[in-house]
Amino acid sequence: LRREGFSTIPNVKWDDVGGLDLIRQEFDLHIISPIKFPEIYEELGMDLDTGILLYGPPGCGKTLIAKAVANEAGANFIHIKGPELLNKYVGESELAVRTIFRRARTCAPCLLFFDEVDALTTNRGREGGWGVERLVNQLLVELDSAEQRQGVYIIGATNRPEVMDPAFLRPGRFEKCLYVPLPSPDERGMILKALARKKPIDANVDLMAIGKDGACKNFSGADLYALMREAATAVVREKLASSYRSCDGTRLTIKVEHFKRALEKIS
Ligand code: ATP
Repeated sequence: LRREGFSTIPNVKWDDVGGLDLIRQEFDLHIISPIKFPEIYEELGMDLDTGILLYGPPGCGKTLIAKAVANEAGANFIHIKGPELLNKYVGESELAVRTIFRRARTCAPCLLFFDEVDALTTNRGREGGWGVERLVNQLLVELDSAEQRQGVYIIGATNRPEVMDPAFLRPGRFEKCLYVPLPSPDERGMILKALARKKPIDANVDLMAIGKDGACKNFSGADLYALMREAATAVVREKLASSYRSCDGTRLTIKVEHFKRALEKIS
């Protein structure tokens, strides 16, 4: 709890997230605007939303978008990993869960992000028996008491929605489930553009075309991150192999050929 219960405002901006437009709109409506313009929601007598569950294949931006939501809302962010919560705090689990929520309330507005939330399930036989059940029950109690949450917003993430404890999906808990899919060809281009924001990309590189390239088929955002990194590494290799290792004044840029090499390697 000492480490993972720590709250900060993440430095991930919307611009760092490529694609996922519909998901952004949902978060804007259900978390960001309620934090920024509470009076609109109060005037309409709207309650604080319950939890939002993001599900879908790994590496497609669930964690990234949760961080961007907190940043955009100017909210604190607490990242809790389901398996860690289980393994470390079984025995003192109820206290750990209560402490997490109390901490979130004291630094509200706060976004509590439960990663790999499927690990917290009571309907599978596992070691720890009672401890796990008590932890999950306490978590459900905290999720249920929405009126006491006071500016604490909950996002859960899972790659395995099918093994989620159904108790989490009942009304008032993770009521809204949003699918975060593998990116489409256009979205792959947008993700590459987002990843390229702080990189010196040569003017001849068409990132949208690379995104549409068949070699990137079924790439996740994490794969595209690896591709971008590999392309930059190709530049480093080239530089180190050249006779001008130290800075010779020419600007290093990632060129078409570096992306080609990276694609060959990654795919
Ligand atoms: P997991 O289910 O494995 O936890 P995840 O869905 O939470 O994965 P992230 O951790 O958010 O995925 O993504 C991993 C990395 O991939 C990010 O840090 C980022 O570099 C890149 N990435 C993924 N999706 C996107 C995206 N839509 N836009 C920009 N970068 C992305």
